[in-house]
Amino acid sequence: MGTSEVNQEAGDGDRGGPNLTRCLFVQVKAEQAADFWSAGDHDGGGIVLSGADALRAASARARQMSRPVLADRRRYAGKNRPRGTARFAPAWIESQRAVNMATVLTDSGYVGQGDHEALEAILKQAASAGPDVCAVLPLHISWLADPGVKPLMAEVNQHEVPVALVLEHSGDPLGTQYAVNGLKRLLGESLVPVGLLSTDISGLGAMAYGAAWAAVGVTSSLRHLYPADRKGGLPFGAKRARHAIVPRLMTFMNVDRIAEGWANAQRHDDVDENLWRCFCVECGNRTMDRLVTCTELSLAAHNISILAELHQQVTDAASWEQAIGDALGCYDLLRHEYQVAWEPPAFMYAWLPRVGRRSWH
Ligand SMILES: [Zn+2]
Repeated sequence: MGTSEVNQEAGDGDRGGPNLTRCLFVQVKAEQAADFWSAGDHDGGGIVLSGADALRAASARARQMSRPVLADRRRYAGKNRPRGTARFAPAWIESQRAVNMATVLTDSGYVGQGDHEALEAILKQAASAGPDVCAVLPLHISWLADPGVKPLMAEVNQHEVPVALVLEHSGDPLGTQYAVNGLKRLLGESLVPVGLLSTDISGLGAMAYGAAWAAVGVTSSLRHLYPADRKGGLPFGAKRARHAIVPRLMTFMNVDRIAEGWANAQRHDDVDENLWRCFCVECGNRTMDRLVTCTELSLAAHNISILAELHQQVTDAASWEQAIGDALGCYDLLRHEYQVAWEPPAFMYAWLPRVGRRSWH
């Protein structure tokens, strides 16, 4: 499990703890801490524990920290979430210091559309809570739109507090050009480190454009913030969909869909099996239909392994665009060679506006 280098660094007088620059976190529920403790345990990796039990889960393992650990209370999620004007719980802030979290995350309420008061209340409280505090900003997506992003940038820069964005959307918050452009602008003009909690593959793009760090959720409910009026639960009897990253497509895809594609492709004599095999440590060359029946942990290990690889590969805006271009090329190949007509996810066009798309909005 490595050494306790992070603890030592954090104790070296810098209350900000270790340098989180370009850290790619895996975000899990606190209850899953035991299973996933080593998941972010690679160079440039870390783990975010989520929910009210996050600190208890972290303190149980405080001595085994070999990589940065964060605790996100996620008080901003769910039907009864408080507004951002709610006071932080002093114990939540203090306890994070006590267990040496890599940085202290605020237990913020939600910042709705145009709710300047909530935004200001969070930043103000965070600024006075200490230099090791990072303000969690759970934002309605309009804050990244043209009129919203300006006051957001102004407030963040004025309070000089590092921030961690949580973007609300029922689908992909970074699936539209306006949201991605707003984020790029914020990252370009922010005077403080900006991180992203509960994000997905776009977190790599955000880092390519200057985000300090990003946390990718292991389940779709931790890959964005659902609006409060959306039913979080599943219809009665429904099976929770499992999503795996198809490496060549750089896309989280329903595993049943992957298996269908593979079944389809095998009807062709000239099938390129390598397109359907995964070479990650967890899969070890097996075809990706295995992801339909593998355990949750094995599925997550595959995803984390692919993300870690992408993290190495995507180091700047050019390599991010290259990675998207390669994935789009692979979508084309599937369509033309194997009649697998999958639509690339909207985030790819949002990050690469010049590619254009016939009817993406
Ligand atoms: Zn794999």
